[in-house]
Amino acid sequence: MGALMNDDGTLSTMPTVLETFASVQASGATAGYSPIAGLPAYREAVIHDVFGSSPLAASSVAVATPGGSGAVYEAVVNFLEPGQQMLLPSFFWGPYTAISEHTGRGLDPFPMFAADGSFNLEAMAAGLDRHMSTQGRALLVLNFPCHNPTGYTLSSQEWRSISEVVGRVGARGPVTVLIDAAYMDYGGDAARAWVDAVPGLLKAATVLVAWTASKTFAQYGARVGALVGVHADPDEVVQIGNALGYSARATWSNCNHAGQLAATKLLTEPDLVARVRAERGALVDLLQSRIDVFNREAASVDLPAPRYDAGFFVSIFTPDEQGTAAAMRERGVYTIPIPGAVRVAMCSTPAAAIPRLVEALQEGVAAVR
Ligand code: PLP
Repeated sequence: MGALMNDDGTLSTMPTVLETFASVQASGATAGYSPIAGLPAYREAVIHDVFGSSPLAASSVAVATPGGSGAVYEAVVNFLEPGQQMLLPSFFWGPYTAISEHTGRGLDPFPMFAADGSFNLEAMAAGLDRHMSTQGRALLVLNFPCHNPTGYTLSSQEWRSISEVVGRVGARGPVTVLIDAAYMDYGGDAARAWVDAVPGLLKAATVLVAWTASKTFAQYGARVGALVGVHADPDEVVQIGNALGYSARATWSNCNHAGQLAATKLLTEPDLVARVRAERGALVDLLQSRIDVFNREAASVDLPAPRYDAGFFVSIFTPDEQGTAAAMRERGVYTIPIPGAVRVAMCSTPAAAIPRLVEALQEGVAAVR
């Protein structure tokens, strides 16, 4: 499951978030429609959550969406023409396929990892060049930090290299970089390297950031999210806001009013901000304790896994994902087979079960070698 669960199998939630959602509902003020592009204070609060006090906030516009899924939808319909493809690493969040195909677009994966296990910059560059030649534009989707499904987080150096490539290809034509930051609060400070990369990307590209309350506030069912558009040219920023608002009107009309109001309070009222930070910190620690056990056990048996610092998921490479998953099922351990790997949901695996999980993974991989 793509949700963080406690060790007893119940959903991890944040008490302050639950209280705040309940209090805004109780007032009745949110029974009316929200503005189509979202509550102005909410839109502002999301931008500041993403960029803090950086000058980037002044070059941004945010439009409310139903979760990160809605944000990805907005990016695809506004930054690709029908028939065009998004470019993304070969391991990716499954619904990108449905979102792009349902909207008459498509996706084009490039090999995610180089031979040394780092991000495959050359493959990304080749893909961007190809898209510029064939489509006359490119939409690059980067789901970092805490990539789903591999758990990989790009380093500062990798972000710098990506910026350089985007700068080169962006000189040939329009490039948009969608940073799907669904898990941005689960990677710690080091995982904020992507924010430092945005000014470099902006020299030659439009930057979009998909933000979601699903993970940020453990409010998966609230369907509260936003797409943040960033551009060096203020006129472009206005146009992006208009286009995103138009797509909202044409699809879901407007988003959960109560959810936006609650999220605004949680992002702006200092007392709530502090309480949420502490409560989220406990959830991050819970997840981290599992990741630590996993990394220790995985290293001891040399499990073929990517660098996994943080995030809800990790993938274990295998030449035959169906065979590995089947061998594991025989041991009563269930994973999701994806091309070239099996995906493990660390977000819903108690630490005590991880040694058995790693043993099953080791045997599952060995069974198909
Ligand atoms: N992007 C990624 C990579 C995800 O894993 C998810 C949720 O699992 C989302 C976006 C969006 O989720 P939601 O629509 O619930 O915000």
